[in-house]
Amino acid sequence: MPQARPRVVIAGAGFGGLEVAKALRAAAADVIVVDQQNHHCFQPLLYQVATAALSPADVAWPIRRILRKQKNATVLMAQVRGIDMAQRLLHTDSISVPYDYLVLATGATHSYFGHDEWAAVAPGLKRIEDATRIRRRILIAFERAEITSDEKERQRLLTFAIVGAGATGVEMAGAIAEIARQTLAMDFRRIDPKASRIVLIEAGPRVMPSLPKNLSDYVQTMLTQKGVELLLSTRVTGCDARGVDLEGGRIDAATVIWAAGVVASAAARWLGAEADRAGRVKVGPDLSLPGHPEIFAIGDTAAVVGQAVPGLAPAAKQMGRYVGQHIAARIAGKDTVTPFRYRHQGDLAAIGRRAAVVKFGRLELRGLLGWLFWSVVHIFFLIEIRDRFIVAFTWLWDYVTFQRGARLITRVPPQENAMR
Ligand SMILES: Cc1cc2nc3c(=O)[nH]c(=O)nc-3n(C[C@H](O)[C@H](O)[C@H](O)COP(=O)(O)OP(=O)(O)OC[C@H]3O[C@@H](n4cnc5c(N)ncnc54)[C@H](O)[C@@H]3O)c2cc1C
Repeated sequence: MPQARPRVVIAGAGFGGLEVAKALRAAAADVIVVDQQNHHCFQPLLYQVATAALSPADVAWPIRRILRKQKNATVLMAQVRGIDMAQRLLHTDSISVPYDYLVLATGATHSYFGHDEWAAVAPGLKRIEDATRIRRRILIAFERAEITSDEKERQRLLTFAIVGAGATGVEMAGAIAEIARQTLAMDFRRIDPKASRIVLIEAGPRVMPSLPKNLSDYVQTMLTQKGVELLLSTRVTGCDARGVDLEGGRIDAATVIWAAGVVASAAARWLGAEADRAGRVKVGPDLSLPGHPEIFAIGDTAAVVGQAVPGLAPAAKQMGRYVGQHIAARIAGKDTVTPFRYRHQGDLAAIGRRAAVVKFGRLELRGLLGWLFWSVVHIFFLIEIRDRFIVAFTWLWDYVTFQRGARLITRVPPQENAMR
């Protein structure tokens, strides 16, 4: 009787999970990819959906379509709920999936530092739904400001507070400033969108601390030039529907956006495994769970003991490729023991039109050159060729016209909400 092929189950089709699946393309194995969503999301450009520059379909693609040509791969849309390590079963909200090898690549989510109640009033940016929700909030704030005749309320509606000055916070603040000062400048009659207040709040002493000081200073200068108010070394102590409380003050703001922290998915809890402070599963040099050579954790949900691997897309992809090749070699009877080594490729962030920072090894770029480099890199990494053209054209068009083409206020109908 022919022996059944090994089953490699991958939980999560983000940057890491997809890379595992692709590395197993030629393996004599059945690859089962389980994700709670039907699409893979290119998170680095989500802020452009949240700020009406791009549409959701420009930065997300059906997982089935991505893997359609890979005959040994099956996609299941289901939410992982737990793992039975003794029976080798991945439990989801609909079925239990048996595995011989299991790769956990379920990423991370926002951390409100023990204040989960802030999530309802200060949304973070992680999924397409978050981006359209934030876009709705930003655009509705301008609409309501146009209607109200209460001056204080108008000021509150035209105040946007972004918490956290890492790359996402910086990109959001720069983009909202451009919406207010350029895109919407001529579109309203009763309000002046240019008078909007955009405040970026950061607990640390400088923006984008992962960058060298000179580049971080440049980001700070550009933000200020764009009219973003910076509150550094300032901790947020509370968030509510009408604004944020700070150590020693308060900002009334109709729109509060959370970009301050991340926490890993529940993978460590499903495994009953040791986790670091960010909730990431501690894995060994080959990214497997200690004592379980058949289970791996990668990307934002893993902490490699003895190595500082950042929560970045290239890191997740490198880990995914490594684990995929490692499993393929084991299935082929050629065990590889070379430990995983993360190679940092660089840091980049766009502050807005003609302003970005790039640090690739010794290469440091800023301004227009940095922005062009940033644009080319992001277009190159988009999955579908169609989207590369669309995004490139959209950026060129917006650059020339100062417009943002995806300024739609969309709502989820209540009956659909009930179906969730
Ligand atoms: C707004 C934003 C901007 C970013 N910008 C950059 C950038 O410019 N450059 C950069 O390098 N990195 C950036 N990052 C970080 C980068 O996106 C992550 O490091 C990367 O996505 C991690 O890959 P991953 O595979 O670990 O997780 P993810 O890509 O997050 O994928 C996790 C997958 O698991 C699925 N999942 C989660 N829980 C479950 C469950 N219970 N059941 C089933 N499926 C589940 C999710 O639906 C998702 O598809 C950004 C992140 C964000 C949020």
